[in-house]
Amino acid sequence: MYSERPQSQDGSPFTGTTKNVSGADDNGRDVNAGADTAPLGARAPHRSAIGGAVIPRFIGSEIYRGSSYGALHPLRVPRVSTVMDLSRALGWLAPAQYLTSPRAKPSALAAWHDPTYLEVLQRAERDGTLGAEERLRHGLGTAANPIYPEVFRRPATAAGGSIMAAGMLRGGGVIYNPGGGTHHGLPDRANGFCYLNDPCLAILAFRRMGLRRIAYLDIDAHHCDGVVHGFGNDPDILIVSTHEERRWPFTGALEDRGGGNVWNLPLPRGANDADMAAIRDGLILPLIQDFAPEALILQCGADAVAEDPLSRLQMSNNAHWAIVAAAATLAPRLLVLGGGGYNPWSVGRLWTGVWATLSGAEIPDRLPPRAQAVLRGLEFANNRLGRNPPEHWFTTLRDAPRTGPVSGDVNARLAHLRARARSWV
Ligand SMILES: [Zn+2]
Repeated sequence: MYSERPQSQDGSPFTGTTKNVSGADDNGRDVNAGADTAPLGARAPHRSAIGGAVIPRFIGSEIYRGSSYGALHPLRVPRVSTVMDLSRALGWLAPAQYLTSPRAKPSALAAWHDPTYLEVLQRAERDGTLGAEERLRHGLGTAANPIYPEVFRRPATAAGGSIMAAGMLRGGGVIYNPGGGTHHGLPDRANGFCYLNDPCLAILAFRRMGLRRIAYLDIDAHHCDGVVHGFGNDPDILIVSTHEERRWPFTGALEDRGGGNVWNLPLPRGANDADMAAIRDGLILPLIQDFAPEALILQCGADAVAEDPLSRLQMSNNAHWAIVAAAATLAPRLLVLGGGGYNPWSVGRLWTGVWATLSGAEIPDRLPPRAQAVLRGLEFANNRLGRNPPEHWFTTLRDAPRTGPVSGDVNARLAHLRARARSWV
């Protein structure tokens, strides 16, 4: 079972008991932890359509349903709950595949986070407020990182899912935790809508299992500054990031290489599926193949699509799904996370398609009525995109491809990084 746990009083890294991992008690209060943390290989093998020898697993939680950062915050929209509802409506989420995310204990989160910050974050949730000095010191109570009702429980649940996933992947396999991917979190402060950093905690969980070589691939529209802060100088961690140039957090320059294993390809405004395909085949896949990781973490933020209100990129969800499919061939252990994504229809459709790709489900050209009802039930208040959504946001998962010639900027940056890769090997 889960022998490489962080230290805690009862030996479990999670709050609550170990029962009912796939059960209905699923609102993120004090639920279940490790009953299902046996290696996936211990289960009956079931070959998925893209090569996993075990059943891909989906980690979700009801805590994401109805939780909001506030009426005007980009994270006011439902995201993970849409993916759960759509996947179930399509018959893609059998009870055996679904796991309720446990909530990580502070002692488990302290593997990467400052204990004082964790105490302050819990107190912020309990009291609903903090003093000015603590808000300033820990980046809390800001427009980006407000003190909202689940400000500790929700990120601790996302982190618990990623920590549990790493433990479950001991024997190999594929796990999807769309509530994870909080790649801006810093050890002692909230940053960029993130309060904790579940990718860093997952890397450390893999490390506790004895894995050394871990690849982290991030295709969110924003640079993964928190993950680079944690592991940019680690020679056994490969970090590859694509992100829109000249966009917050303004890190991740083409020339930045951390300790030598950090690769950044900043995308020009308007980058589309063709640009991403060139980067995928010309840089991402060769880098990860050459690195031969024991585990791969893919942060699959959904904010690089054309309809996202927080970026100026022009991809369709086909670009993301093609990378997910390729990622499944690159390492014996694959953990796929969510991340950004601020249009409720595009993030729900994209991340549901990620699950279809991982689980081998066939995406229909036109969604059945039950699945359409999930999408028709979404609202996007306080955004012009919510006023008159196009019909295909309700009736399809797959976007029309957005292709064209590869931009000159992308070709030049690819050539630069490929030259670096050749000289480095
Ligand atoms: Zn983002």
